[in-house]
Amino acid sequence: MVPAPQNSKSMFIFFSNSELYYSDRFGLVRHWVEHGKHAARWVLDGTDLFLSDAQVHSLHDHATMFDDTQRIFLVEALPKRLQARFLEQARLPPDTSIIRAPCNQPHISYIKLTNHTAMNETQAVINLAEILSTVIGHDRRGIIFCPSQHEADQLHNRFTQSCCVSYPEFSEANKARSEDEWKKGTKQWIATTAGFTLDVDSPSVGAVIFLGVGITHGMDFLYRGAGQSGRDGQRSWVVVLQNEPHQFAVPYDGLQDDDDPQCLAESWAWLQANRCRRLGFTMLYDNDTVSCAQLPDAHFCDFCEPQSKLMVTLKKKFNPPLIF
Ligand SMILES: [Zn+2]
Repeated sequence: MVPAPQNSKSMFIFFSNSELYYSDRFGLVRHWVEHGKHAARWVLDGTDLFLSDAQVHSLHDHATMFDDTQRIFLVEALPKRLQARFLEQARLPPDTSIIRAPCNQPHISYIKLTNHTAMNETQAVINLAEILSTVIGHDRRGIIFCPSQHEADQLHNRFTQSCCVSYPEFSEANKARSEDEWKKGTKQWIATTAGFTLDVDSPSVGAVIFLGVGITHGMDFLYRGAGQSGRDGQRSWVVVLQNEPHQFAVPYDGLQDDDDPQCLAESWAWLQANRCRRLGFTMLYDNDTVSCAQLPDAHFCDFCEPQSKLMVTLKKKFNPPLIF
Protein backbone atom coordinates (compact mmCIF):
# COMPACT_ATOMS: atom_id res chain seq x y z
CA MET A 1 0.00 0.00 0.00
CA VAL A 2 1.08 3.56 -0.54
CA PRO A 3 1.63 4.85 2.99
CA ALA A 4 -0.75 7.50 4.26
CA PRO A 5 0.92 10.85 4.83
CA GLN A 6 1.81 11.29 8.49
CA ASN A 7 4.07 14.32 8.73
CA SER A 8 1.70 16.64 7.00
CA LYS A 9 -1.95 16.57 6.16
CA SER A 10 -1.31 18.32 2.90
CA MET A 11 1.87 16.77 1.56
CA PHE A 12 3.20 13.36 0.66
CA ILE A 13 6.14 11.62 -1.00
CA PHE A 14 5.77 8.40 -2.92
CA PHE A 15 8.04 5.74 -4.26
CA SER A 16 6.90 3.52 -7.08
CA ASN A 17 8.08 0.90 -9.53
CA SER A 18 6.73 -0.41 -12.79
CA GLU A 19 4.16 -2.59 -11.01
CA LEU A 20 2.38 0.52 -9.87
CA TYR A 21 1.38 1.30 -13.45
CA TYR A 22 -0.78 -1.77 -13.56
CA SER A 23 -2.27 -1.61 -10.10
CA ASP A 24 -5.14 0.24 -8.49
CA ARG A 25 -2.74 1.89 -6.08
CA PHE A 26 -2.09 4.67 -8.52
CA GLY A 27 -5.76 5.57 -8.07
CA LEU A 28 -5.02 6.39 -4.42
CA VAL A 29 -2.28 8.79 -5.44
CA ARG A 30 -4.59 10.39 -7.93
CA HIS A 31 -7.29 10.67 -5.26
CA TRP A 32 -4.97 12.50 -2.88
CA VAL A 33 -3.84 14.94 -5.54
CA GLU A 34 -7.37 15.62 -6.68
CA HIS A 35 -8.36 16.33 -3.06
CA GLY A 36 -5.78 18.96 -2.43
CA LYS A 37 -2.72 17.06 -1.21
CA HIS A 38 0.60 18.02 -2.71
CA ALA A 39 3.01 15.36 -3.96
CA ALA A 40 6.30 16.80 -2.75
CA ARG A 41 8.46 14.18 -4.40
CA TRP A 42 7.97 11.23 -6.73
CA VAL A 43 10.73 8.63 -7.03
CA LEU A 44 9.99 6.28 -9.88
CA ASP A 45 12.03 3.18 -10.69
CA GLY A 46 12.00 1.26 -13.97
CA THR A 47 11.02 4.26 -16.03
CA ASP A 48 12.45 2.86 -19.25
CA LEU A 49 8.99 1.39 -19.71
CA PHE A 50 7.97 4.87 -20.79
CA LEU A 51 9.70 4.03 -24.04
CA SER A 52 8.88 0.44 -24.74
CA ASP A 53 5.58 -0.51 -23.19
CA ALA A 54 2.43 0.80 -24.82
CA GLN A 55 0.46 0.25 -21.61
CA VAL A 56 2.70 2.64 -19.79
CA HIS A 57 2.35 5.49 -22.23
CA SER A 58 -0.72 6.51 -20.27
CA LEU A 59 1.63 7.50 -17.51
CA HIS A 60 2.37 10.51 -19.63
CA ASP A 61 -1.16 11.65 -18.83
CA HIS A 62 -0.76 10.85 -15.15
CA ALA A 63 2.38 12.94 -15.15
CA THR A 64 0.37 16.12 -15.73
CA MET A 65 -0.71 15.83 -12.09
CA PHE A 66 2.89 16.19 -11.01
CA ASP A 67 4.16 19.13 -12.98
CA ASP A 68 5.02 20.95 -9.74
CA THR A 69 6.40 17.83 -8.04
CA GLN A 70 10.08 17.02 -7.71
CA ARG A 71 10.48 13.88 -9.79
CA ILE A 72 13.42 11.47 -9.62
CA PHE A 73 13.33 8.84 -12.34
CA LEU A 74 15.57 5.79 -12.09
CA VAL A 75 16.38 3.67 -15.11
CA GLU A 76 18.80 0.78 -15.44
CA ALA A 77 19.98 1.76 -18.89
CA LEU A 78 18.92 4.45 -21.32
CA PRO A 79 20.31 4.56 -24.87
CA LYS A 80 21.58 8.04 -25.61
CA ARG A 81 19.52 8.33 -28.76
CA LEU A 82 16.32 7.76 -26.74
CA GLN A 83 17.10 10.36 -24.09
CA ALA A 84 15.08 13.20 -25.65
CA ARG A 85 12.10 10.94 -26.18
CA PHE A 86 12.28 9.72 -22.60
CA LEU A 87 12.21 13.28 -21.25
CA GLU A 88 9.26 14.11 -23.46
CA GLN A 89 7.31 11.07 -22.26
CA ALA A 90 8.10 11.98 -18.67
CA ARG A 91 7.00 15.61 -19.23
CA LEU A 92 10.41 16.87 -18.23
CA PRO A 93 12.26 19.80 -19.87
CA PRO A 94 14.69 18.76 -22.61
CA ASP A 95 17.62 20.21 -20.65
CA THR A 96 16.87 18.16 -17.49
CA SER A 97 20.04 16.87 -15.84
CA ILE A 98 20.67 13.17 -16.28
CA ILE A 99 23.21 11.38 -14.10
CA ARG A 100 24.71 8.37 -15.82
CA ALA A 101 27.05 5.59 -14.88
CA PRO A 102 29.08 4.09 -17.73
CA CYS A 103 27.68 0.87 -19.14
CA ASN A 104 31.03 -0.89 -19.26
CA GLN A 105 30.27 -3.86 -16.99
CA PRO A 106 33.96 -4.85 -17.07
CA HIS A 107 33.35 -8.17 -15.30
CA ILE A 108 31.37 -9.54 -18.28
CA SER A 109 32.97 -11.41 -21.17
CA TYR A 110 30.65 -11.14 -24.19
CA ILE A 111 30.83 -14.00 -26.68
CA LYS A 112 29.10 -14.38 -30.02
CA LEU A 113 28.73 -17.84 -31.55
CA THR A 114 27.03 -19.23 -34.61
CA ASN A 115 26.08 -22.89 -34.75
CA HIS A 116 27.11 -24.34 -38.13
CA THR A 117 27.15 -27.88 -36.83
CA ALA A 118 24.66 -30.59 -37.68
CA MET A 119 23.31 -30.62 -34.14
CA ASN A 120 20.01 -28.89 -33.55
CA GLU A 121 19.81 -25.73 -31.51
CA THR A 122 18.62 -27.47 -28.35
CA GLN A 123 21.56 -29.87 -28.34
CA ALA A 124 23.96 -27.05 -29.14
CA VAL A 125 22.71 -25.05 -26.14
CA ILE A 126 22.97 -28.07 -23.86
CA ASN A 127 26.57 -28.69 -24.94
CA LEU A 128 27.37 -25.03 -24.49
CA ALA A 129 25.77 -24.90 -21.04
CA GLU A 130 27.69 -27.99 -19.91
CA ILE A 131 30.96 -26.40 -20.98
CA LEU A 132 30.07 -23.14 -19.24
CA SER A 133 29.27 -25.08 -16.07
CA THR A 134 32.88 -26.24 -15.92
CA VAL A 135 34.08 -22.65 -16.23
CA ILE A 136 31.76 -20.95 -13.74
CA GLY A 137 31.86 -23.82 -11.24
CA HIS A 138 28.86 -25.66 -9.88
CA ASP A 139 28.11 -23.15 -7.14
CA ARG A 140 27.06 -20.47 -9.58
CA ARG A 141 23.92 -20.35 -11.71
CA GLY A 142 23.13 -19.88 -15.37
CA ILE A 143 20.22 -18.39 -17.30
CA ILE A 144 19.21 -19.38 -20.84
CA PHE A 145 16.99 -16.80 -22.54
CA CYS A 146 14.94 -18.43 -25.30
CA PRO A 147 12.99 -16.77 -28.11
CA SER A 148 9.72 -18.38 -26.94
CA GLN A 149 8.20 -20.85 -24.49
CA HIS A 150 8.58 -23.59 -27.09
CA GLU A 151 12.39 -23.51 -27.00
CA ALA A 152 12.40 -23.15 -23.20
CA ASP A 153 10.20 -26.23 -22.82
CA GLN A 154 12.35 -28.23 -25.23
CA LEU A 155 15.42 -27.39 -23.21
CA HIS A 156 13.73 -28.37 -20.00
CA ASN A 157 12.63 -31.69 -21.49
CA ARG A 158 16.09 -32.66 -22.76
CA PHE A 159 18.28 -31.07 -20.11
CA THR A 160 16.15 -32.15 -17.18
CA GLN A 161 18.92 -33.03 -14.74
CA SER A 162 20.39 -29.56 -14.73
CA CYS A 163 17.76 -27.19 -16.08
CA CYS A 164 14.38 -25.99 -14.87
CA VAL A 165 12.03 -23.72 -16.74
CA SER A 166 10.05 -20.61 -15.87
CA TYR A 167 8.41 -17.87 -17.87
CA PRO A 168 5.90 -15.09 -17.20
CA GLU A 169 2.93 -17.12 -18.43
CA PHE A 170 3.54 -19.86 -15.84
CA SER A 171 1.19 -20.01 -12.87
CA GLU A 172 2.59 -18.34 -9.78
CA ALA A 173 2.93 -21.73 -8.07
CA ASN A 174 4.91 -23.24 -10.96
CA LYS A 175 7.09 -20.16 -11.23
CA ALA A 176 7.85 -20.21 -7.52
CA ARG A 177 8.73 -23.93 -7.56
CA SER A 178 11.04 -23.64 -10.57
CA GLU A 179 12.79 -20.52 -9.42
CA ASP A 180 13.24 -22.03 -5.98
CA GLU A 181 14.94 -25.09 -7.50
CA TRP A 182 17.23 -22.79 -9.41
CA LYS A 183 18.05 -20.42 -6.57
CA LYS A 184 18.82 -23.32 -4.22
CA GLY A 185 21.08 -24.86 -6.85
CA THR A 186 19.09 -28.07 -7.28
CA LYS A 187 19.10 -27.12 -10.97
CA GLN A 188 22.02 -25.02 -12.11
CA TRP A 189 20.32 -23.60 -15.19
CA ILE A 190 16.98 -21.98 -15.82
CA ALA A 191 15.46 -21.72 -19.28
CA THR A 192 13.18 -18.76 -19.69
CA THR A 193 11.93 -16.00 -21.97
CA ALA A 194 12.32 -12.25 -21.96
CA GLY A 195 9.95 -11.37 -19.12
CA PHE A 196 12.10 -13.23 -16.59
CA THR A 197 14.62 -10.43 -16.54
CA LEU A 198 12.16 -8.37 -14.52
CA ASP A 199 11.87 -10.99 -11.79
CA VAL A 200 15.31 -12.48 -11.40
CA ASP A 201 17.22 -11.57 -8.29
CA SER A 202 20.13 -13.88 -7.71
CA PRO A 203 23.61 -12.65 -6.86
CA SER A 204 25.33 -15.81 -8.06
CA VAL A 205 24.69 -15.90 -11.81
CA GLY A 206 27.93 -16.75 -13.60
CA ALA A 207 26.69 -17.23 -17.16
CA VAL A 208 23.86 -16.10 -19.41
CA ILE A 209 23.06 -17.64 -22.79
CA PHE A 210 20.85 -15.93 -25.36
CA LEU A 211 19.45 -18.41 -27.83
CA GLY A 212 18.57 -17.03 -31.24
CA VAL A 213 17.65 -13.48 -32.02
CA GLY A 214 14.15 -12.14 -32.25
CA ILE A 215 11.89 -9.36 -31.17
CA THR A 216 12.79 -9.93 -27.54
CA HIS A 217 16.51 -9.85 -28.20
CA GLY A 218 17.22 -6.30 -29.17
CA MET A 219 20.41 -4.72 -27.88
CA ASP A 220 18.62 -3.26 -24.87
CA PHE A 221 17.46 -6.71 -23.81
CA LEU A 222 20.91 -8.19 -24.34
CA TYR A 223 22.38 -5.53 -22.06
CA ARG A 224 19.81 -5.99 -19.32
CA GLY A 225 19.91 -9.78 -19.50
CA ALA A 226 23.70 -9.76 -19.42
CA GLY A 227 23.53 -7.53 -16.36
CA GLN A 228 21.87 -10.34 -14.40
CA SER A 229 25.29 -11.97 -14.24
CA GLY A 230 28.25 -11.18 -12.03
CA ARG A 231 26.32 -9.52 -9.23
CA ASP A 232 28.48 -11.50 -6.82
CA GLY A 233 31.43 -9.42 -8.00
CA GLN A 234 33.00 -12.31 -9.89
CA ARG A 235 33.69 -12.54 -13.59
CA SER A 236 30.86 -13.80 -15.76
CA TRP A 237 30.23 -14.98 -19.33
CA VAL A 238 27.44 -13.90 -21.67
CA VAL A 239 27.03 -15.92 -24.85
CA VAL A 240 24.78 -15.09 -27.80
CA LEU A 241 24.24 -18.30 -29.77
CA GLN A 242 22.69 -18.09 -33.21
CA ASN A 243 21.84 -20.85 -35.56
CA GLU A 244 22.65 -20.98 -39.22
CA PRO A 245 20.80 -19.74 -41.19
CA HIS A 246 20.17 -16.75 -38.94
CA GLN A 247 16.68 -16.48 -37.57
CA PHE A 248 15.78 -12.85 -37.34
CA ALA A 249 12.17 -12.71 -36.29
CA VAL A 250 12.03 -9.00 -36.94
CA PRO A 251 14.01 -7.56 -39.85
CA TYR A 252 15.45 -4.23 -38.97
CA ASP A 253 14.72 -2.79 -42.43
CA GLY A 254 12.45 0.19 -42.23
CA LEU A 255 12.80 0.63 -38.50
CA GLN A 256 13.24 4.24 -37.60
CA ASP A 257 14.94 5.20 -34.38
CA ASP A 258 11.65 6.36 -32.90
CA ASP A 259 10.09 2.98 -33.59
CA ASP A 260 12.88 0.96 -32.10
CA PRO A 261 13.11 1.37 -28.32
CA GLN A 262 14.28 -2.25 -28.01
CA CYS A 263 17.29 -1.35 -30.18
CA LEU A 264 16.79 -4.11 -32.72
CA ALA A 265 18.74 -2.17 -35.34
CA GLU A 266 21.72 -2.02 -33.01
CA SER A 267 21.52 -5.74 -32.22
CA TRP A 268 21.47 -6.48 -35.96
CA ALA A 269 24.56 -4.34 -36.46
CA TRP A 270 26.23 -5.97 -33.44
CA LEU A 271 25.66 -9.44 -34.85
CA GLN A 272 27.11 -8.44 -38.22
CA ALA A 273 30.17 -6.67 -36.83
CA ASN A 274 33.50 -8.41 -36.48
CA ARG A 275 35.13 -6.42 -33.70
CA CYS A 276 35.26 -6.18 -29.91
CA ARG A 277 31.79 -7.17 -28.64
CA ARG A 278 31.88 -4.50 -25.94
CA LEU A 279 31.83 -1.69 -28.48
CA GLY A 280 28.18 -2.21 -29.39
CA PHE A 281 27.14 -1.49 -25.81
CA THR A 282 29.42 1.45 -25.10
CA MET A 283 28.40 3.09 -28.39
CA LEU A 284 24.70 2.68 -27.68
CA TYR A 285 24.64 3.77 -24.05
CA ASP A 286 27.66 6.02 -23.65
CA ASN A 287 28.20 7.42 -27.16
CA ASP A 288 31.73 6.16 -26.66
CA THR A 289 33.96 3.46 -28.10
CA VAL A 290 35.51 1.57 -25.21
CA SER A 291 36.92 -1.83 -26.15
CA CYS A 292 38.13 -4.54 -23.77
CA ALA A 293 41.73 -3.40 -24.20
CA GLN A 294 40.87 0.15 -23.12
CA LEU A 295 39.03 -0.90 -19.99
CA PRO A 296 41.10 -1.61 -16.86
CA ASP A 297 40.54 -5.15 -15.54
CA ALA A 298 38.15 -6.03 -18.34
CA HIS A 299 37.03 -9.61 -18.77
CA PHE A 300 37.89 -9.90 -22.46
CA CYS A 301 35.34 -10.84 -25.11
CA ASP A 302 35.86 -13.69 -27.59
CA PHE A 303 37.10 -11.27 -30.26
CA CYS A 304 39.72 -9.69 -27.99
CA GLU A 305 40.88 -12.98 -26.46
CA PRO A 306 40.18 -15.78 -28.97
CA GLN A 307 42.56 -18.16 -27.14
CA SER A 308 40.93 -17.95 -23.72
CA LYS A 309 40.45 -21.22 -21.85
CA LEU A 310 36.73 -21.21 -22.64
CA MET A 311 37.20 -20.49 -26.34
CA VAL A 312 39.80 -23.24 -26.70
CA THR A 313 37.44 -25.69 -25.00
CA LEU A 314 34.55 -24.68 -27.23
CA LYS A 315 36.66 -25.18 -30.34
CA LYS A 316 37.64 -28.67 -29.19
CA LYS A 317 34.18 -29.82 -28.20
CA PHE A 318 32.23 -28.64 -31.22
CA ASN A 319 33.15 -30.44 -34.41
CA PRO A 320 32.85 -28.85 -36.90
CA PRO A 321 33.46 -25.88 -34.64
CA LEU A 322 31.13 -23.10 -33.84
CA ILE A 323 32.01 -20.04 -35.85
CA PHE A 324 33.22 -17.15 -33.75
ZN1 LIG B 1 36.49 -7.11 -26.58
